[in-house]
Amino acid sequence: MKVNFLDLKSQYHSIKAEIDQAISAVLEKSAFASGPFVKAFEENFARAHGTKYCVGVNSGTAALHAALMALEIKAGDEVLVPANTFFATPEAVSLTGATPVFVDCEPHYYNIDPDAIEAAITEKTKMIIPVHLYGQPAQMDKMMVIAQKHNLLVVEDCAQAHMATSNGKSVGTFGICGCFSFYPGKNLGAYGEGGAIVTDDEDLCRKLRMIRDHGMAQKYHHDLIGHNYRLEGLQGAILDVKLKHLDEWTTVRRINADIYRRLLSDCSEVNTPAEMPDARHVYHLFVIRTKERDELQKYLGEHEIGTGIHYPIPCHLQKAYAFLSYNAGDMPTTEEYADDILSLPMSEQLKEHEIEHVCSMIKEFFANHH
Ligand SMILES: *Cc1c(COP(=O)(O)O)cnc(C)c1O
Repeated sequence: MKVNFLDLKSQYHSIKAEIDQAISAVLEKSAFASGPFVKAFEENFARAHGTKYCVGVNSGTAALHAALMALEIKAGDEVLVPANTFFATPEAVSLTGATPVFVDCEPHYYNIDPDAIEAAITEKTKMIIPVHLYGQPAQMDKMMVIAQKHNLLVVEDCAQAHMATSNGKSVGTFGICGCFSFYPGKNLGAYGEGGAIVTDDEDLCRKLRMIRDHGMAQKYHHDLIGHNYRLEGLQGAILDVKLKHLDEWTTVRRINADIYRRLLSDCSEVNTPAEMPDARHVYHLFVIRTKERDELQKYLGEHEIGTGIHYPIPCHLQKAYAFLSYNAGDMPTTEEYADDILSLPMSEQLKEHEIEHVCSMIKEFFANHH
């Protein structure tokens, strides 16, 4: 039996009529760049996260970069980021000319370790970017206390955590803003690229709308240096259709995670993800850990089970950051986990019998290798 890591085609077929209708509505109106479909989606996405404003942009990376530009992060500033994240988080910092300062993850939930943050703060530190990695909120209560004490801005990287909550509060609403990605494989995925920033701050919203459109508030009046970060009309219309299904899809992801955990509970070689108390983990990824990761991944691949590694090389050890002179051993937990983590198939399209098959193949691997 073949089990895909992700099945975007089945998802499309489950909502085909609605999607096809939304696409032709955009074509009929020819509202291709920003416009009414983007505006409608922004309103609904803001409502879904309980924020006043949402600004659609054309990727999660653009969302982070625009937020940092709007908050005037610049050369000479330091921004704290987790070492355990996708490269776009520190990359957005570097795009402003500022310096990313990496912080190790804590061992249970994979997110930035709040207890390691204070040691990384200097007089140049301006901001913390917590990432809600794999779909689980970072420890925001602790983070906000530290941020307030040191007068630091907090911008949340919510690219993997649409509609995740901590103590009932949505990710993206703890800091000054939250940045989302709608890359096709994300929990809410465009049919192309997309991103958004949610915020309650009216000034920030106004500035973000200008930055995404060449610094204009009024046509051809450029008040600041921006970018072309506009969200396409087609993506806005598609995302608006998918947003209606997101809560239900998230529930299915959570049920699938429970099935995995139950079936793997007697497999001592495998560590399954833990949920923080009071967190709604949205399982963008279902990440296990095992000391025989490479062999297990190869075995599953030979049996047509798709897996991934998120991420194999920690950010501070990437070639692009060689100039920051980090060394192996600087972020011990992140580095140890990079060799052990394996992402199993996860989506709302995944069926119980497929999860059973994946788990029985994992158990078969360990039975034959010990
Ligand atoms: C996907 C992702 C991004 C970047 O989003 P894009 O839409 O691909 O630009 C940023 N941060 C994290 C944690 C991500 O997973």
